[in-house]
Amino acid sequence: MAFVNQNYCNLKESYLFSQIAHKVAEFTAAHPEKKIIKMGIGDVTLPLAPAVIEAMQKAVAEMGVKETFRGYGPEQGYDFLHQAIAKYYASFGVEVASDEIFISDGAKSDCGNMTDIFSNDNVILIPDPVYPVYLDTNVMCGRKIIYMQGKPENDFLPMPDDSVKADIIYLCSPNNPTGAVYTKEQLEKWVAYALKNDAVILYDAAYEAFVSDPSIPRSIFAVEGAKKCAIELCSLSKTAGFTGTRCGYTIVPHDLVRKTKDGQEMSLNKMWLRRQTTKFNGVPYIIQRGAEAVFSEEGQKQCREMLAFYKENARIMAEALTKKGIKFYGGTHSPYIWLECPNGMGSWEFFDYLLEKLAVVGTPGAGFGSMGEGYFRLTAFGSRENTIEAMERIEKGL
Ligand SMILES: *Cc1c(COP(=O)(O)O)cnc(C)c1O
Repeated sequence: MAFVNQNYCNLKESYLFSQIAHKVAEFTAAHPEKKIIKMGIGDVTLPLAPAVIEAMQKAVAEMGVKETFRGYGPEQGYDFLHQAIAKYYASFGVEVASDEIFISDGAKSDCGNMTDIFSNDNVILIPDPVYPVYLDTNVMCGRKIIYMQGKPENDFLPMPDDSVKADIIYLCSPNNPTGAVYTKEQLEKWVAYALKNDAVILYDAAYEAFVSDPSIPRSIFAVEGAKKCAIELCSLSKTAGFTGTRCGYTIVPHDLVRKTKDGQEMSLNKMWLRRQTTKFNGVPYIIQRGAEAVFSEEGQKQCREMLAFYKENARIMAEALTKKGIKFYGGTHSPYIWLECPNGMGSWEFFDYLLEKLAVVGTPGAGFGSMGEGYFRLTAFGSRENTIEAMERIEKGL
């Protein structure tokens, strides 16, 4: 008899986006004349940079010629992309070796797959609120999960607590959904905690390119000692518009060594290489050439323009909310604004209010964890026109 993984029974049904879609459909049916502005979805809207398209077209042509055709590639990625990423890291002062960089189809996959190389006996520490993938991928393994609270008192940036013993710690900075970002001093405390407890930090840097203050680390490896205790997950999804194209990368340092339960020392870099070469087929050559172009001088210039566009949206949103006296977080080093629902409203209550009254859609904070109740996420990924119109509606009507 084949038994299924019982841990799946412990997954909470994710009603968030289906519930939002349902409510929006209902509203549209009742008010077909109203123009709804969607500021809830965490997906980019600008097209890929011209440098990326050009590189992919060139790669497509190569695949059609016998001399330049490529078959199976290295599962961990081509070296031309490793080198481009290493150079990118060097541009903000972080040194990583080519063979510490693993190319993948995105940060979500790596985040979930990373559970493979750790024992299920580990205690997992997860921020609340946060990107829901950290929780669900560990529930699927049946692991013990503990939470650390993000709240106004800590600016939604939980800090280590020595009385809490965790083995694997998820950190996301700049944070989805709160837009909060850790300073170097704060990351130093996390690294110190991880080193002291022989823990491993899984650092999600999917939004690193939104950081505009050079004193704020774009990588946890900007912190001394982090290579002995951290893995960094990164993605081109939000930073270069690759949500549909699919490419990300994960950095597993050679210095990261931990023991099996019976005391054998293992290199996590070697384990991850073994895992990927066994279970993953690698990212298509054409996509990797497109990703390489993101890190070229021209590609960086074009991607920075895209980011500047989203950040200008965020600035417009922040300005409108400030005028209204609505308290919010993020929006500076992040495409997300995390606002406190006015008049003590609950997340869903405010969602309904905003939809019914102003035909603006956002994401209820409660969908990112219990600490998100009473908060609401707006994204800066919309068009300029819609962003301005939504903020005008809020300024006039809220
Ligand atoms: C969007 C997002 C990701 C997923 O990135 P992909 O590369 O598209 O899988 C990872 N982490 C966070 C926090 C995100 O918001």
